[in-house]
Amino acid sequence: MGTLFDTYGREFSYLRLSITEACNFRCLYCLPDGSQRQVGCGNSRQDAPLNVAEIENLILGFADLGFRKVRLTGGEPTLRPEIVEIVRKIADIPAITTLALTTNGHRLSELAGPLRRAGLNVINVSMDSLDSTRFQEITGSRLLGQVRQGVEEAVRVGIGRVKINVVLLRRSARQNLKDFMEWVRETPIRVRFIELMQTQDNGAFFQQEHLSGDEFRSDMEALGWKEQAREALDGPAREFCHPGFVGRLGIISAYSHNFCGPCNRLRVSSRGKLKLCLFGEKEYSLRHLLQSPEQREELVCAVRSRIGEKASSHFLGDGIYGSTKHLAAIGG
Ligand code: SAM
Ligand code: SF4
Repeated sequence: MGTLFDTYGREFSYLRLSITEACNFRCLYCLPDGSQRQVGCGNSRQDAPLNVAEIENLILGFADLGFRKVRLTGGEPTLRPEIVEIVRKIADIPAITTLALTTNGHRLSELAGPLRRAGLNVINVSMDSLDSTRFQEITGSRLLGQVRQGVEEAVRVGIGRVKINVVLLRRSARQNLKDFMEWVRETPIRVRFIELMQTQDNGAFFQQEHLSGDEFRSDMEALGWKEQAREALDGPAREFCHPGFVGRLGIISAYSHNFCGPCNRLRVSSRGKLKLCLFGEKEYSLRHLLQSPEQREELVCAVRSRIGEKASSHFLGDGIYGSTKHLAAIGG
């Protein structure tokens, strides 16, 4: 039992775990040529994503390190046929008080109820436009209507917090602000605009489409949105309210603000590699320590021994984005 601090005094309590690299969408900034990976498959066992028992052992170890929040991500996590079982196993670990999922939402209308009953309490659904033509242009998918129904189902079944992730793209930002404002007028969801991040694969797209969070913020403020005071355990999102709107808007800007100062998260890839920073170079395999619950102490020691290597900040502003080819590889 304990807590995990790095050399900069930051305490870590939030694990983002990718459970597959595979995805059925082809978002222009992430996997424009589609996913080269199949769900749950690999050429060897080391190449396959962590199985349910390995995931459970991993989370038990991180719970011993003081972790209280877990987010499942990918690739597209709902492509794993065992997604509800994975959620149930993690939710049953008493130390984990917040269990979140990031999804493209294509299976959400059928999964929202089972996921809620299994113990999921936060869901982020990615929707880069509410216009079906633009949605298809960005994601390669015609499923906007299905995704939207899924979000409404998640609200209906009472998943505690329902959030929408919208990547800020220069070409659609203004229209998105209007459309998403209209949606949150009467729907209790939180829409978060995420500044586009450069990765190894998306350089040209980034140059064309990157819009700074600060520029977008001015547009929001001009429409009467007011920033809320931040609380100690808040993540990197800055949240905004407006009288007369039940939902909220937010901005996550990796470039424009002190994004790394309050960092409280570590990442593990679908094949069990610890990544200290989304935009770092180094990865450490933990998989050999996930084969039995008896290895928990060794797992805890292995993570403790690496945390000192976590850098104070990413260097995205200098055009350095580490070994991250695209966010589907490690989970955004
Ligand atoms: N497939 C799921 C989804 O799209 O929600 C989960 C994985 S996806 C990598 C997680 C989040 O990262 C999504 O909200 C996606 O829009 C965001 N994302 C992916 N690449 C990004 C980039 N280069 N910059 C900013 N956000 C990105
Ligand atoms: Fe798939 Fe999510 Fe990447 Fe889009 S952002 S391609 S849905 S992993």
